[in-house]
Amino acid sequence: MSKKICILGSTGSIGKQTIEIIRSCGFELTGISGNTNILELENQIREFSPKYCAVADQRLAEDLAVRVKDTPTVVLSGDDGVCQLANESGADILLNSLLGSCGIRPTLAAIDAHTDIAMANKEPIVAAGEIILSRAKDNGVRIIPVDSEHSAIFQCINGGFNSYKYVNRLILTASGGPFFGRQRIELKNVTPEIACAHPTWSMGKKISVDSATLMNKALELIEAVRLFGVSADRVEVTVHRQSIVHSMVEFCDSSTLAQLGHPDMKHCIQFALTYPERCESICRPMDYTKAFSLTFEPLDEKTFSFLPLARRCVAEGGSLPCVMNAANEAAVELFLSKKIGFCDIFSLVEDAVKGHNKENITDIDRLSEIDALIKEQVFNTAKS
Ligand code: MG
Repeated sequence: MSKKICILGSTGSIGKQTIEIIRSCGFELTGISGNTNILELENQIREFSPKYCAVADQRLAEDLAVRVKDTPTVVLSGDDGVCQLANESGADILLNSLLGSCGIRPTLAAIDAHTDIAMANKEPIVAAGEIILSRAKDNGVRIIPVDSEHSAIFQCINGGFNSYKYVNRLILTASGGPFFGRQRIELKNVTPEIACAHPTWSMGKKISVDSATLMNKALELIEAVRLFGVSADRVEVTVHRQSIVHSMVEFCDSSTLAQLGHPDMKHCIQFALTYPERCESICRPMDYTKAFSLTFEPLDEKTFSFLPLARRCVAEGGSLPCVMNAANEAAVELFLSKKIGFCDIFSLVEDAVKGHNKENITDIDRLSEIDALIKEQVFNTAKS
């Protein structure tokens, strides 16, 4: 199988795992982007000779351009550079593993170039899902989820024959995060160090905090509603501590399909890159002849109140999912820099949603304004 791949966020955790898969499958890397780790970008340029490399920071882009001036790779800079990379990479599929809503514009730029998207960046689907999915449809572009839950659902629905019309419920599995079983009051003294120690998946800091608050699951719920076109009341969340069942789909005849495997993001990344085919993997298979048990438990939505909040935001739609996401991005930043406590993340996000008058959104510029406005508002509340 030959594929041309472009990676946005190639030095992050998902980006590096994608590089491993590209290496093992022998795919071609046509473009990469990164934020600050220019040493890693230089290594990737020297190994894969991509056509373009984009660096969001202007000054670091200049540094990198000097370092790799003996290579054919063109270094682009700034947010516009990332969009240009997404638009001109010439890739068959673009893997977007950027963090936060900054991934919206590059996603649209790739869609405009008719490039399929392997989506590991959940915020664009949450904040701008309606715009992104309708533009993808108009351009005949496939959006293939990389998030393990959505990859599982995608595989269950598309396994064999297309059965979207028979879907009754989606059941998202949640590891429960590091604080499963605790009540809100017991979370008061959680520090960034404690919150970032995730039991099963290894990942970056922002998503670790999102896993601890279960905002991650709340974003995934909205993502599932958008990607699979089911209403919010038909997406359920169950706590499954082993992270072996990555999610399930129940059909109208009450039969349920699940997708299973070791918790390893490389499975999902490779599936998205090779879809609709499959190829051998560097991931180890499960051994079902050994004894192990799978458990499912209810989630305490009073402590982890982002789930009911997300249901409300996506059911009402418009600007609300964008507001929820923007407030969370800002609150997590404040928490990681120790300016607010762990439980303040919940109240800041809930207050931002409560204080916002919903707008119907049709263009991306207005959405960016709201995103910026809400973030500024959260930063200011925390200061006062
Ligand atoms: Mg996930």
